[in-house]
Amino acid sequence: MTAQYIYAFHKGDGKNKVLLGGKGANLCEMTQIGLNVPPGFVITTEACLDYLQNHQLPEGLMDEVRANIAEIEALSDKKFGDSENPLLVSVRSGSAISMPGMMDTILNLGLNKLTLNGLIEHTGDTRFAYDAYRRFIQLFGKVALGIDDEKFDHHFAEIKRQAGIKADVGLDAEHLRQISELFLQVVQEETGRPFPEDVYEQLELSIKAVFNSWMGKRAVDYRREFHITPKMANGTAVNVVTMVFGNMGNDCATGVGFTRNPGTGVNEMYGEYLVNAQGEDVVAGIRTPKPVQELSNEMPEIYRQLVDLRNKLESHYKEVQDYEYTIERGVLYCLQTRNGKMNAAAMVKTSVDMVAEGLISKEKALLRINPELLEQLLHPQLDPNNKIPSVAQGLPASPGAACGKCVFDADSAEILGRSGQAVILLREETKPEDIHGFFASQGILTSRGGKTSHAAVVARGMGKACVAGAEDIKIDVRARLAVIGDIHIREGDTITIDGSSGLIYLGRIDTIEPKFSEDLKTLLSWADEYAVIKVHANVDTPERAQLAASYGATGIGLCRTERMFNASDRLPLVIDMILANTKEERQEALEKLFPIQRDDFRELFEAMSPYPVTVRLLDPPMHEFLPGEHQLEEEIQALNTYKTMIRGQQVTLDTLGEGSLLPAPFNQLNEELINKAIAKKELMLKKVRELYEVNPMLGHRGVRLGMSYPEIYQMQIRSILEAAAICTKQRKSIMPQIMVPQVITVQELIQVKKYVDQIQQEVESQYGIALDFKFGTMIETVRACTRAGHLAEVAEFFSFGTNDLTQATFSFSREDAENKFLPLYNETGLLEDNPFEVLDAKGVGQLMEMTALAGRKTRPGMKIGICGEQGGHPESIRFCHHIKLDYVSCSAPRIPIARLAAAHAKLLENEYTIG
Ligand code: ADP
Ligand code: MG
Ligand code: MG
Repeated sequence: MTAQYIYAFHKGDGKNKVLLGGKGANLCEMTQIGLNVPPGFVITTEACLDYLQNHQLPEGLMDEVRANIAEIEALSDKKFGDSENPLLVSVRSGSAISMPGMMDTILNLGLNKLTLNGLIEHTGDTRFAYDAYRRFIQLFGKVALGIDDEKFDHHFAEIKRQAGIKADVGLDAEHLRQISELFLQVVQEETGRPFPEDVYEQLELSIKAVFNSWMGKRAVDYRREFHITPKMANGTAVNVVTMVFGNMGNDCATGVGFTRNPGTGVNEMYGEYLVNAQGEDVVAGIRTPKPVQELSNEMPEIYRQLVDLRNKLESHYKEVQDYEYTIERGVLYCLQTRNGKMNAAAMVKTSVDMVAEGLISKEKALLRINPELLEQLLHPQLDPNNKIPSVAQGLPASPGAACGKCVFDADSAEILGRSGQAVILLREETKPEDIHGFFASQGILTSRGGKTSHAAVVARGMGKACVAGAEDIKIDVRARLAVIGDIHIREGDTITIDGSSGLIYLGRIDTIEPKFSEDLKTLLSWADEYAVIKVHANVDTPERAQLAASYGATGIGLCRTERMFNASDRLPLVIDMILANTKEERQEALEKLFPIQRDDFRELFEAMSPYPVTVRLLDPPMHEFLPGEHQLEEEIQALNTYKTMIRGQQVTLDTLGEGSLLPAPFNQLNEELINKAIAKKELMLKKVRELYEVNPMLGHRGVRLGMSYPEIYQMQIRSILEAAAICTKQRKSIMPQIMVPQVITVQELIQVKKYVDQIQQEVESQYGIALDFKFGTMIETVRACTRAGHLAEVAEFFSFGTNDLTQATFSFSREDAENKFLPLYNETGLLEDNPFEVLDAKGVGQLMEMTALAGRKTRPGMKIGICGEQGGHPESIRFCHHIKLDYVSCSAPRIPIARLAAAHAKLLENEYTIG
């Protein structure tokens, strides 16, 4: 035999988890640092792979097993298969990455008729021996022979029923003997062969069963679900461990522990134990375990040893450990350890604490936390103890959980919201005119639209929970009813939505509010020390800017001016601007908008002072500010009906001679007024039809609007520069940046720059100051990438708009992709990730790298960033760091994630490979 397939615990390399599996490597490591681990050995993952390939155990493997058993025998003073003092072992699986539920552990292996008697003789405890025996037969039967638990369970239940016993502990030795006999018969019936008496045959069958489990459906599904590649874990190891018994009396126990509290991160003894029980009893919940603190009264000496074990584990692993132990007749054995899984708050606290204790470095403290985990800390979470099942699921469009009363339109949301009630707004889809409903609601639920639908984007911008495109819900606004199958949700009913999972629940589920703790601040300040790439925010209002600044944003990478247009006091002005037939009419509407925008920008600059604020000039197609065609048609129809009705009432009164006027308030609404309303709506409808485009996202939008309606861009530029002038006069330190969207040629930039130069002159002379600001462009068309060198002649900075750039590069429309074929592409591996969530480094990323190089060739040291949604995704941030971008910009709640990811990008830059 060439390779060594087996390592005794005192010989195996504790660092080699790929070869020995996580459990095996740690058992070796613990043995070698002097912890009391029962003697045993690991059969390697290489043996597993060899077995799976050749359908038989590697030659000589069982000889090696025998040699290692002999070693254990010497160490434990017991003999495998012996009739007087038999050695029993457990057979445990374990791959490099723990895969819960992949494989059951077989305990008490080595029992047969002969050794059973030996066990009875040696322990003097018949009940204990039969209990061990029946457990072994069932587990072996199930795991190694593939017999259903059910076949055993009903015998077990039957004996209990006959004996009139409820709890397992009530069974005596005789009951357990009967059960064992029945179990042996089950094996005979199910396999057509007697239960294997030869202990080596038992062991060999078990080893093969563990190996086979690697390719079992459960394990294969698990690896696919959690993206576990062969490089991360390939094959399972088998651990053969001397049995120790926590169930031989009241000086025995078994327990599990965490070296710190995994719920809070507090540095304290944490865990549970059961006296007189076997390992799996704690997990199985057959009896209620006691908190470990009680062990200090019950077994003070053992408790002291346990504290010592805990301290040794932490000081060795320098990481919070999750460990298993068993106490056999007053002796403590450690059976397993692994890195503890904790919630985000506990991860942050333990990181900060362990640095303070000198246990780990700041780098380690940062690297041990997956940035995505921080998401938990910034949005309300559903109570983790919630047991209520969900009733439907949509797309997780904006994270966080929210609970409130259902309403079906924005006005009702506002009324209810104002009265202080928590509200969830339910719509088929939302439109800009619903915006006041967003402000008033805790969360938004739509039955149509994807992750870039209006509802999703606006909710994310506001940091509100949103579930979008829940297609199983039929929303009937008129009937004020939402129907899911046979469930009816009426206006005022309470529901809970979870925008992080997309799940929808009936009734109230408590939520846990987010907290930006001192520990998180400390940790992120360390992140900033290492990070090179800066983190900016995508925000549109001063309030959000303040929030972003409090989360540590050092600038605004994207302010979408159209969001300001959408607020309910401005939308009518914007509509007037759109309806304008002449330049003069448009100018008039714009003049009303101007001071509003100027004040917005001033507040925004102040909120972000002294950091840069990047303002994007108007981007979306104009029709987005108008109601839908269908809605307008309906409204016009309603107005006409109303007119007829009023006329009818008037005729009624005239006819009966009961006075000449309708009573108030109807007398106010004379025909003239209604006609005016109809005229306006008809104008809107005409405009909506005029503005109709087959493909609006590729149509008249972005800088193209600035070319056809220069006065709109000029108004915006003037608002920005006057706001800057006002701040500058007040000696506020600010850095405005004007950004042009959808550019394809430098000619467009030259044109907009002309407006800027002209207005700059005017504002400077008006305010008597010199302005300091930057002029730049978004890069979101493929042509902009290929012309980057030229664009950089005029643009002082670039910002990659990777939402549009991704659509352009793939020639996908995001909505259609995500709703139709992208899930299939991801499931079948045609595409690894959703490129709208994770930056496509191999495709879009190549364009970005090329663009950055060309831009900086023209303009050395040019500032370049990314403001697409991917900018908040850790993997994308690593790529942006790699191609030396200056900043990433993301929504406010993702800023902490991005700051940590930026530090990871720097600390791990040497290991980085694309894809
Ligand atoms: P899992 O992978 O599910 O954690 P384990 O292999 O750790 O499974 O074993 C299941 C249970 O059996 C655990 O409680 C463990 O402590 C216990 N156990 C495993 N091996 C032994 C042993 N040699 N002696 C006593 N208990 C054991
Ligand atoms: Mg297991
Ligand atoms: Mg375990």
